[in-house]
Amino acid sequence: MAPCSTHRELLVIFLGLILSFVSITAACDPLYLNPLLVHQDLCSAEFPVSGVFQEHEILPLREAPTEASSSVYDVVPIPGKGFGVVANRKLPRRTKIIIEEALISVPMPEMVPGQGFRMADMLTNVEDAFHSLSPAQQQEFLDLHEHRFPTEENQSKLLTILRSNAYNTGDDYVGIFPKIARINHSCRPNSGNFWSMKRNQRVIYAFRDIERGEEVTVSYIPLTKSTKERQARLFQYGFTCGCDACQSVESSRKRVKIADFIEVLEQKVHLDGLSEKSAERMLSKSMSLVDMIEEEELADYLAKAYHFAAVFHEKKGDLKWIRWNLSQRSNMSMISA
Ligand SMILES: [Zn+2]
Repeated sequence: MAPCSTHRELLVIFLGLILSFVSITAACDPLYLNPLLVHQDLCSAEFPVSGVFQEHEILPLREAPTEASSSVYDVVPIPGKGFGVVANRKLPRRTKIIIEEALISVPMPEMVPGQGFRMADMLTNVEDAFHSLSPAQQQEFLDLHEHRFPTEENQSKLLTILRSNAYNTGDDYVGIFPKIARINHSCRPNSGNFWSMKRNQRVIYAFRDIERGEEVTVSYIPLTKSTKERQARLFQYGFTCGCDACQSVESSRKRVKIADFIEVLEQKVHLDGLSEKSAERMLSKSMSLVDMIEEEELADYLAKAYHFAAVFHEKKGDLKWIRWNLSQRSNMSMISA
């Protein structure tokens, strides 16, 4: 990805939310909602690194270049994918594309270790939420894509729609966003995606410039996995991803390496008293991580990478250097909805 030209913009780094991975079998059981397979926030976008950047440095998302009442996208048939969301005008980086409240939001039940959330335990809550909707809203729900496995012959349609389209809605809740649900997956998405606790809404924004006619994509899954692992996790949605990242052996290797770097940096980032040599190594690793994530265009991971870079620079007492160096790299997560 080409670096953004608006390098005068001040930078913001947001804390990456460390995903709480749990031991889940790769081959998912459709009777369970695998927590790794709920469309996830990969970063918590509204929390700047305290002490490093000031509130006024938060970059707001851009308002969409549009007349007040019209949206910046159309929902159209996409060959091989059913429907999808396509930009109907050029969307500069950081443009808000969709901001949506959940149509329904239900608590996740207690997790069954090694399996996930038992779908049947969610049925009563989902039915109650569904019946509280207007007839038009119910139809909007029922019109969403539903992937039904052969073993789900007797499963409630409400649950299979939920499993096929759920995003988290804050801690311990999952919900349905009918507009956002139309956006297809890519392992190299052009849009970022997060749950705004401030708004109580989910936000989709352009991570890079999106051309008129280009499909808007987000990621449904953690992306720092090999292609094989990503495909296994996409199994729940009933499709095989054919994005360019999935065609590249090099990309697959790089993503595993990114995951290794993140793991090491997460272990060291909160440690006090690192030796100078070790801090130097971690600093170098964090900057390599930034480069790799930018090369792979993993929008949702940039905040995490820049957070590491900032912290290890801070450990060296190099705040000026952070501001200057990162300002040359403003191609990063920077979200305030
Ligand atoms: Zn892919």
